Amino acid sequence: MSSSDEEGGEEYLFKVVIIGDSAVGKSNLLSRYARNEFNPHSKATIGVEFQTQSMDIDGKEVKAQIWDTAGQERFRAVTSAYYRGAVGALIVYDISRRTTFESVARWLDELKTHSDTTVARMLVGNKCDLDNIRDVSVEEGKILAEQEGLFFMETSALDSTNVRKAFEIVIQEIYNNVS
Ligand code: GDP
Ligand code: MG
Repeated sequence: MSSSDEEGGEEYLFKVVIIGDSAVGKSNLLSRYARNEFNPHSKATIGVEFQTQSMDIDGKEVKAQIWDTAGQERFRAVTSAYYRGAVGALIVYDISRRTTFESVARWLDELKTHSDTTVARMLVGNKCDLDNIRDVSVEEGKILAEQEGLFFMETSALDSTNVRKAFEIVIQEIYNNVS
């Protein structure tokens, strides 16, 4: 994270990580947010470590460097380098697969272990377009978020529901934490 003063204008750069079980839609949430793209057959992420997105807050340019795993979560081997310096996190589960919701506690533990600062955290129930095969209720998501002190939102990377909102709430909260 950094803040600099150039020509009188402040600039912010915040690192945000996306975590959660394999195939919950992490990579598609990022591609939907950063490039407005969705990939129905997405393989494990190759190459790109992060994408940078800018938004304007109080007339200041705030940049978020959003990190996606390269599929390491399948091997429970997300490294400490991945978390280093993160000031925001989206913890994602798939509303159609309860096991991914049950993993949230473990992801929160891991995040806590690796962070030495306040992290703005959003619990994300992705694939809300799959309401017909829902396996986790909206209420359960809300309750867990309340217990853990997280923001909460259901999203769909497929139909774009709440994707921008989820990222922007986290970025706004990081900004609030540091300013
Ligand atoms: P990751 O392993 O968490 O990065 O998950 P991916 O982004 O690779 O997505 C895994 C699978 O779920 C892919 O087949 C995606 O097309 C699909 N997927 C991702 N987001 C959504 C969504 O919001 N709705 C639906 N129906 N499928 C999704
Ligand atoms: Mg991925």
